[in-house]
Amino acid sequence: MKNLCPIILYISLVIVGISCKDAGHEVADLVIKNGNIYTVNSASPKAGAVAVTGGVIVDVGANETIDRWIGKDTEVIDLQGKTMTPGLIEGHGHFLGMGQAKLNLELLDVTSYEQLAERVAEAVEEASPGEWILGRGWHQSKWDSISGTVVKGFQTHEMLSAVSPDNPVFLRHASGHAGFANAKAMEIAGVGLLAKESLSKEDTHGGEIIRDEQGNPTGIFNETAMGLIGKHIPDADVGKDRRAMELAIQECLENGITSFQDAGAGRNQIKLARDFLDEGKLRVRLWMMVSSRDTTLLNEWYARGPEIGLGDNFLTIRAIKIHADGALGSRGAWLLAEYADRSGHFGHETTPMQFVYEVAKKGLKHGFQVCTHAIGDRTNREVLDMYEKAFKENPEAARDARYRIEHAQHLHPADIPRFGELGVIPAMQAIHMSSDRPWAIDRLGEKRIIDGAYVWQKLLQSGAVIVNGTDVPVEPIDPIASFYASISRKTLKGEPEEGYEPDQKMTRAQALKSYTLDAAYGAFEENIKGSVEPGKVADFTVYSQDLMQVPENEVLETRIDMTIVNGKIEYIRD
Ligand SMILES: [Zn+2]
Repeated sequence: MKNLCPIILYISLVIVGISCKDAGHEVADLVIKNGNIYTVNSASPKAGAVAVTGGVIVDVGANETIDRWIGKDTEVIDLQGKTMTPGLIEGHGHFLGMGQAKLNLELLDVTSYEQLAERVAEAVEEASPGEWILGRGWHQSKWDSISGTVVKGFQTHEMLSAVSPDNPVFLRHASGHAGFANAKAMEIAGVGLLAKESLSKEDTHGGEIIRDEQGNPTGIFNETAMGLIGKHIPDADVGKDRRAMELAIQECLENGITSFQDAGAGRNQIKLARDFLDEGKLRVRLWMMVSSRDTTLLNEWYARGPEIGLGDNFLTIRAIKIHADGALGSRGAWLLAEYADRSGHFGHETTPMQFVYEVAKKGLKHGFQVCTHAIGDRTNREVLDMYEKAFKENPEAARDARYRIEHAQHLHPADIPRFGELGVIPAMQAIHMSSDRPWAIDRLGEKRIIDGAYVWQKLLQSGAVIVNGTDVPVEPIDPIASFYASISRKTLKGEPEEGYEPDQKMTRAQALKSYTLDAAYGAFEENIKGSVEPGKVADFTVYSQDLMQVPENEVLETRIDMTIVNGKIEYIRD
């Protein structure tokens, strides 16, 4: 058999040779034509057609010039005038969490405590005795009002416990920074009444069990205190995680997402991604941050170094995620001045700054980007300080380190220019502004909101590169909603009329770039993706209408019609 190979090779060369000759030119695997293509390439921003070979763009231009790439075996997609952009990049999300959220109770759309209890009651009917009922996505600030007793701004567990007396329930807050447990879950975790005199001594290491005046736990567990309940939840079995991965991939493709930046993966998640890659099932490109919560894992990665572009650029592991504070919703974001709606409360760091500094130093040494979750102005300042200190000690490696701050929601005005100066990338999720701005002003007050909250334009003008995204499953992955939030600074109901702090809106071009080329830059991938240019991967998103031109109030009606990854159609809308 071995000897036949050269003959077969020879024959196939001849066949290819003939078809090339027929076309009078090398032929492409795929030609996409008659499109309204926004290339995000400033040298030639619009095009009508693209030719692709081997999953890579080989030519971009007007229809007439690209037609010559069509041979008898070329797949041709006629866009019939539809709008296409480079494949969209989700710049900060939680890949497995997105899939798991689909397997658990989805509470993002719940508008009252009663409705939350109803959803749990339905789940109890389906559940087997003693089975945990898990969910996430509730947000008390998005409810019209909170029924029953309110302690520190949160509902209390009685109604939840009444609908599920025998099944333990744990529901994560939309922000991911708090959890809500029923009596059964607290009983399993051994969290009960605490005598008044012991209240001040309770230590949950960077978290809080919210208690009423008598010392009863109310069911709300903030930050690290969530672990008190979480450690009793049985690990999802491998089969369930694989199902979650499949759901996450499908969710990306249906939403036009061709690359996903995973903001904090543990050992199991990294292994799953690798398994999916090996099995040819990873149909979305993943760029992963290794979670720093597992220091053993972190040390292994320091020793091993980054892994870049595995399997045709479908998997890259080259960043480290640190969690430095909580969220504004749960008042866990760390502020320079006290919360406007809770005097004497500043929030707190969830990781010592010394750790941020050490990881920043080691990241430079071992070639990893460092990406730190920072929401409050105090955390942002301290993290910038730690990065800066590490940069000064290793100026060679720091020249193009592309360290990131994830969220960068609330900044002190003095720190805004530091992003551009230090080359630190703010990875900001525009949809958070749309969802949170209506109540965030209660937490921060007007001055801090105007001076430094969600200040996209100030950051861009100071020379920073913004990576956009959704933080899915904190928000749905829908890039159209985040694009709309970026350009309108309105809620998804279209309020207020002029948008919040309208001078901070992104232009449509900036918003598209934050979802494509700039997101790629935030991952050292701008040379292989993020624009429609020869030599880059053939990842594209096709839309039902021209989202760069339609009136602003019609942008949200845009649908994803087609998603192409590596030159292959992975999704077509029915
Ligand atoms: Zn996140």
